[in-house]
Amino acid sequence: MDLRKIDWALEAYRQTLGEDDIRRLAFFRGLWALQQGHIDSADASGDYQMPDKARAERWYWGEKPLFLMAPVIVDNSRLAAAAQDCATYIAENAGLEPESAAQLATYNWHSLIEGSDSAMAGKNPASWLARTQQLALETGPGQEAPIGVLLGVVLACALRTVLEPAASKVAAILDVEDPERTHVHPLRCPTCGTHATVGFVGPLHATEGNARLLYCSTCGTTWEFERIRCGRCGSRVQRKLHYCHIEGDGAHRLHLCDECGDYLRTVFGNESPAPLSFEVEDVVMSRLDMVAHTSTESNKP
Ligand SMILES: [Zn+2]
Ligand SMILES: [Zn+2]
Repeated sequence: MDLRKIDWALEAYRQTLGEDDIRRLAFFRGLWALQQGHIDSADASGDYQMPDKARAERWYWGEKPLFLMAPVIVDNSRLAAAAQDCATYIAENAGLEPESAAQLATYNWHSLIEGSDSAMAGKNPASWLARTQQLALETGPGQEAPIGVLLGVVLACALRTVLEPAASKVAAILDVEDPERTHVHPLRCPTCGTHATVGFVGPLHATEGNARLLYCSTCGTTWEFERIRCGRCGSRVQRKLHYCHIEGDGAHRLHLCDECGDYLRTVFGNESPAPLSFEVEDVVMSRLDMVAHTSTESNKP
């Protein structure tokens, strides 16, 4: 996570967003700083066995998620410590009902993570998240799991801290420019295989035209993607793809696909008041999910 970029974006949004959004962003700023502390200490241990560049690039173009091919060895105690810290922070700062807050803070994250398939966490994170949530719900009385959404948030926040150091090491060596457009970019995160969380359309450098990027919040990877293509099902049928936005906010749009009925929240750099930080945009655009649920319901094929 780039806390400097996050702060630039927050500074700009302070001028344009309402109080509720600002408060929510302040809550997340605290969580990101906490996650970054864990990322830094994982980074210092630097133990990811990186594949060589040529192989990593072949996997990229072959849509083989890197972690599936060269898994991260996840240290359970590190992951559990991150989960414990994130849970405590959320319990103290999210304005939860006292009962939910207490449940979150006192939950035994170590025992949940010890009992999970941690090899899966470093190989197929999306699948680990789903299975570990299920495992928590099946754990008997005396260790009642925090309610679904909170459980998922804590596990995802913790998992990011152990995946991001490996993901950014790989991003630093990969060179996947394809000026001839002979390949199609991966539909899911090329590093961890999860679906994109949000997208971006705009110039990456002042002198260049618009590009499109997708961002994975599971591991922090961003990758280039075709301008006219659904980020969910990969459809390239132009007439079935459209953007819509709330009046007065052209910077934040939904990319809707009639083929699969799904959508991807997308920030338009040229219209955004803030410099790009995907973490910040993910929070700012969360209100678009509500709009999407109304419009995709009527849109489903
Ligand atoms: Zn990823
Ligand atoms: Zn689609």
